[in-house]
Amino acid sequence: MTDDYAVPESAVTYECRYCGRPFAREEWLALHRGLDHPAQLDDGEIAAFRAAHEREESELGHFRLRALGALVLIYFCLLMIYALV
Ligand SMILES: [Zn+2]
Repeated sequence: MTDDYAVPESAVTYECRYCGRPFAREEWLALHRGLDHPAQLDDGEIAAFRAAHEREESELGHFRLRALGALVLIYFCLLMIYALV
């Protein structure tokens, strides 16, 4: 099963104990377990998934806010250029 993934020998990986898929970060493994094996998790793994998922959501939220800020800035700049020309 793990032959399907190219993993460097020296790399530290977190392997999924359900399907054997390796992950570079424990957080990604927690996310994978929650998405691909939701019915098989114990309480600790569910908690880890929730925590990882929440962190991901808030990172996404920050990104959206930054993207919106950038858009407003660009719009404002265009408006200024338009006003000056
Ligand atoms: Zn798995």
